[in-house]
Amino acid sequence: MEFNKARKIIGIRVLSDNVIWIWENNNSAVVIDPALSQPVIDYLKGNNLNLEAILQTHHHLDHIGGTVELIKEWPNVKVIASVKEKDRIPFQNLSVKEGDTLHLLDEEVQVLEVMGHTISHIAFYIHSKVPVLFIGDTLFSAGCGRIFEGTYKQMYDSLKKIKSLPKNTLIYCAHEYTKSNLLWALDLEPENQNIKNKLIEVEKKIALKELTIPCLLEEEMKINLFLKADNLKGFSYLRANKDLWV
Ligand code: ZN
Ligand code: FE
Repeated sequence: MEFNKARKIIGIRVLSDNVIWIWENNNSAVVIDPALSQPVIDYLKGNNLNLEAILQTHHHLDHIGGTVELIKEWPNVKVIASVKEKDRIPFQNLSVKEGDTLHLLDEEVQVLEVMGHTISHIAFYIHSKVPVLFIGDTLFSAGCGRIFEGTYKQMYDSLKKIKSLPKNTLIYCAHEYTKSNLLWALDLEPENQNIKNKLIEVEKKIALKELTIPCLLEEEMKINLFLKADNLKGFSYLRANKDLWV
């Protein structure tokens, strides 16, 4: 394996706040959670890229909505999803579970189960000197996913799993929620200078129409109150508070 390789991963903003990630190498590409098909088709065709795989973190429509159309364009594409989601992601053709390793674009990708947002949400981790995590709706910059199907304990354990990864892991989340998450965090911790600084940085990026993600795990440990919570009770309080805040 080649280390320190510069990886090309671009984000396409769709719907109100979704981000579709496209990871490319030479003439091949992997798409993560295609909410829509057309922007992906336009990008891949415009850049002469063959779609090798689609990674699905969970079954929500804003993550799988474009997949069927992409399969029509690239009939040999691998559609990789949790083995537990054969009913809700029926077009999957490569079913995976916690601990599985995939070989994509000359790299090793590990499957992590991160339950909470849904009961079988998974994440994809590129294990290398410059680690990358495609985390779907489990973690957002300065926030975390709503607990729709799982328990507080499952989500808390999923965040612990993320915290155990190398600090230089770049985290690619599926939504651009950073600013509103930071405003919520500042409501709770108005004196937190790390969060204030991050808000300034994020507002600059937004003014330039840039994405505020991916985020770096090391930085999230300082600004993400959910990651900073060190017990289940504290985490549950924050999650319930955030549910009512919006
Ligand atoms: Zn979702
Ligand atoms: Fe989503």
